[in-house]
Amino acid sequence: MKPAAAHGLLLSSLCLALCCRGGARGSPTSSDSHEWKKLIMVHHWPVTVCKEVEKDCRDPPDYWTIHGLWPDRAEECNGSWPFHFEEIKDLLPEMKMYWPDVIHPLNHSHFWKHEWEKHGTCAAQLDALNSQKKYFGGSLGLYEKLELNSILQKLGIKPSINYYQISDIKDALASMYGVVPKVQCLPPKQGEEVQTIGQIELCFTKDLRLRNCTEPGELGESGRAWGPGLEVCEDGPAFYPPPPQSTR
Ligand code: 5GP
Repeated sequence: MKPAAAHGLLLSSLCLALCCRGGARGSPTSSDSHEWKKLIMVHHWPVTVCKEVEKDCRDPPDYWTIHGLWPDRAEECNGSWPFHFEEIKDLLPEMKMYWPDVIHPLNHSHFWKHEWEKHGTCAAQLDALNSQKKYFGGSLGLYEKLELNSILQKLGIKPSINYYQISDIKDALASMYGVVPKVQCLPPKQGEEVQTIGQIELCFTKDLRLRNCTEPGELGESGRAWGPGLEVCEDGPAFYPPPPQSTR
């Protein structure tokens, strides 16, 4: 399938994905001071998450998982709307599979609570995401429809001991999705030759259409770190680390 056709199909199925997931709930109050413009679907590479936190994670998933669905420029929008695990109980199998806590694989719900309180309460300004079930279900829907793992496979971008050029990865993803993604890396540590790929972000408008993560001339986010150590990748070579040999 040509990239342009794939893009058209992708957009309609993304909207469908959100409409079909998650039960509605009365709209919460949202603060006008938490204005945001775009939603960022953040995928992370579990092997790099373990490296970032310098933790020897046990058998991290060997596929890209969800870090979060983040509104830009808004965090912690409603401190009186606590996370209730019960509300997403039905989503548990998919949550554990696609939105695991990579660092604490025996207790995922702290991570989900954190993501809800920091990002979900802001995303909930949208009717399509205005309950915990809709936020987590909608995020899973977007993740599944974006199909980042199979798209990378199709592009021949696989974990490897050989390095990739960041511009090749960005260009290949842009041609598939029809929008500019953002790729984030861990800068090289002492003794390392190159940066390590850690996160891939794809961005959405408030009506959940894919949009560029950065527009030409847009200021402000270049070099912004989303986690300890992660930064927008420098142009040049990067390591996409293979998972360690499984100990299962
Ligand atoms: P944010 O707080 O904006 O959602 O994301 C940044 C934080 O998430 C960083 O502190 C980073 O270390 C943490 N993080 C990234 N991946 C994971 C994970 O799988 N589990 C947990 N518990 N924290 C994570």
